[in-house]
Amino acid sequence: TAKTEERNTFRFYTPIMHADTRRRMQLATELRQALARNEFQLVFQPSVELRSGRIVAVEALLRWQHPERGEVLPGEFIPVAESLGLIRRIDEWVMQATCAQIEAWNLAGVPPIRVAVNVSARWFSHPAFVEGVSRALQSRQLSAQRLLLEITESAMLRLGDDTERTMRTLHTLGIDVAIDDFGTGYSSMSYLKLPAVAYLKIDRSFVTGLPGNANDAAITEAMLAMSKSLGLITIAEGIETEAQHEFLLRAGCVEGQGYLYSYPLKANEIQHLLCPNQPLAPARLRLVPPRR
Ligand code: C2E
Ligand code: MG
Ligand code: MG
Ligand code: MG
Repeated sequence: TAKTEERNTFRFYTPIMHADTRRRMQLATELRQALARNEFQLVFQPSVELRSGRIVAVEALLRWQHPERGEVLPGEFIPVAESLGLIRRIDEWVMQATCAQIEAWNLAGVPPIRVAVNVSARWFSHPAFVEGVSRALQSRQLSAQRLLLEITESAMLRLGDDTERTMRTLHTLGIDVAIDDFGTGYSSMSYLKLPAVAYLKIDRSFVTGLPGNANDAAITEAMLAMSKSLGLITIAEGIETEAQHEFLLRAGCVEGQGYLYSYPLKANEIQHLLCPNQPLAPARLRLVPPRR
């Protein structure tokens, strides 16, 4: 009967749930030590101007080099870090490491492109957030224009009453904000008018269906129209095919990121990509993904 089946199903899944919980608890313990043990590392994914194909920016993406598991992706450890209250310290590390990298690129003569950093709601809404960002910039003598802060649409939902004041301060300092993963947050669109918000990133889930899926095409066009009339710059995420590129270019999207142009790369690979005339380092530039 259905009842026995249910019971059997439950019993069948129990050990798997336990294994999952055990893995999360293990990750939690190790995550607490990851910062001190220097196990975090940044990779950078280019963002290209669709019209010209020129790289105009890179986005810093966090990687955890786990001593036994190898590379752990943010999708697995960021939620754990959030629930443990570790995300703010991790975000601060990312900001400082990114600024150190921008300074190193400057010293190596790399063109001054924009560098985006992902910021969690936890850090953004902390009273010391703006101070932390400006201190990271100042410590490397960097201009605020070099930086773009990315905050997801769903994180915007969790922000408090101070959001507008924080955005106004960022705007005064000349620091732009991008609304990341746009279209997935089920939220009001009022934050698109907030000061400092200058970029909108169309989530990969809409780009995947282009150009064939009529719904994705209609939603993408509507987002582009709205974005344009608000004076925002649009960046499409997760472009993997020529056909997606063509559609977005024709629909007026300004920038794009995705495996079609480049996987996330190591800092020295970004340098070789942006300075092709500089002598190549021993390791050949690799545009294929590291092991997943
Ligand atoms: P995101 O900010 O939306 O970043 C884009 C994600 O999509 C990255 O995954 C990138 O590697 C992946 N991606 C880029 N192009 C393509 C493509 O063409 N196809 C596919 N299938 N995927 C593509 P990643 O690095 O695993 O990061 C996942 C998410 O974790 C990020 O989404 C961001 O929300 C979060 N994250 C990453 N680094 C940080 C960080 O330093 N701090 C915080 N708070 N969150 C971070
Ligand atoms: Mg992002
Ligand atoms: Mg995104
Ligand atoms: Mg995304």
